[in-house]
Amino acid sequence: PARAAEIRSLIRDVPDYPHPPVVFRDITPLLADGPALTDVVDAFAGLVDADGGVDVVAGMEARGFLLGAPLATRLGVGFVPLRKAGKLPPPVVREDYALEYGTASIELRHGTLAPGSRVLLVDDVLATGGTAQAAASLVERCGGHVVALAFLLELAGLGGRDRLAGRTVETLLRVE
Ligand code: IMP
Repeated sequence: PARAAEIRSLIRDVPDYPHPPVVFRDITPLLADGPALTDVVDAFAGLVDADGGVDVVAGMEARGFLLGAPLATRLGVGFVPLRKAGKLPPPVVREDYALEYGTASIELRHGTLAPGSRVLLVDDVLATGGTAQAAASLVERCGGHVVALAFLLELAGLGGRDRLAGRTVETLLRVE
């Protein structure tokens, strides 16, 4: 993105949160900064042109909503929320996936995606890639075509890009 170093400086590294030894990357200072948020959304929009266009943006709860919805309006397309289990009223399609400890589920409203629609998946952070992999397979089970997965920040040491091998993965910033 434009002014990448400044944008990086607006992502706060929080040691030992939510528990040691995790370093949590907090994007709330970036979200609160108008020019930086605009640069991030503009950078995402530039990727889409490069990837050949999309029909809809889908975002992962919750920070994927905060980046994906302004991107959708910027592109003039709709937004589809991929929600944590139990938040959307039925009918929903559900995808279960493994976490480091336990499992999680995400849901998409049945019938939201037109068959064959070109979907851009957006989230703030790519870590192990488990959430993104589950989101992509949920979109595909619902008839969408995942054009690309776009993230603000890639935690490169956690192997998310390998887990998503074969897919188009775009990240605006990377840290080890
Ligand atoms: P993954 O499934 O391991 O790739 O984790 C990615 C998901 O967890 C995304 O939905 C992120 O929003 C969230 N996440 C993981 N690590 C962080 C972090 O350091 N900051 C903010 N969100 C994170």
